Amino acid sequence: MEKTVQLYEGKAKKVFATNDENVCIVSYKDDATAFNGAKKGTIVGKGVINNRVTNHLMRMLEGQGIPTHYIKELSDRETAVKRVTIVPLEVIVRNIAAGSLSKRLGLPEGTKLAKTVLEFSYKDDALGDPMVNSYHIFAMQLATPEELKLISDYALKINEILTAYLAQFNIELVDFKLEFGKTSDGTIVLADEISPDTCRFWDSVSHEKLDKDRFRRDLGGVEDAYQEILKRLMGE
Ligand code: UDP
Repeated sequence: MEKTVQLYEGKAKKVFATNDENVCIVSYKDDATAFNGAKKGTIVGKGVINNRVTNHLMRMLEGQGIPTHYIKELSDRETAVKRVTIVPLEVIVRNIAAGSLSKRLGLPEGTKLAKTVLEFSYKDDALGDPMVNSYHIFAMQLATPEELKLISDYALKINEILTAYLAQFNIELVDFKLEFGKTSDGTIVLADEISPDTCRFWDSVSHEKLDKDRFRRDLGGVEDAYQEILKRLMGE
């Protein structure tokens, strides 16, 4: 498989077309941004770790019946994925209050939520990814009711699978963000990444943060936290 043109460069990844029209190659960068791009930096080795962690979790989810865009890891930073049109929604799943939810609802960080919370944001950097509900989604035709139902069901199922999977490594899944895509035949699949950039991972015992909040909040030990997640999941 060969890269042809670069289709897109985002904050953390580049996406290339290949000589196969149904396949893209994603390349993970060490660049880190937070607060909708207002804070910028580098997390050395992040691209390699996020590539490997994402692929490991996508393979695990595929094994549990969740369709994903994953095809094959090509190198430290590069992975072949199915070419999809991204549904322009950030799908956020929350088990424990943190970040923007804590702020918005006045819930102290760490408050266990009595029921899992599902949120959607409209993927639009210029607007700052505003939160939307199903009415906005249908009014703007971002997804059909059938697609939104499927995406919601997948997100909640992924939460169940991931929470149980991570618990065995003493990792608490606080919240996370998913993106879904549509393949050329219209199938909805899990896309993007599942990594310390897009999830809040806390140590189950100490509740130490092992994710991008260390970068967002200048807590130090950012690289070590990402490395720790890779080590717990893959033993390296
Ligand atoms: N998240 C993400 N990308 C975004 C916004 C959020 O990956 O553009 C993830 C974030 O890492 C966290 C979860 O979604 O795991 C919930 O984030 P929150 O709404 O609390 O926003 P934040 O505090 O990250 O601004």
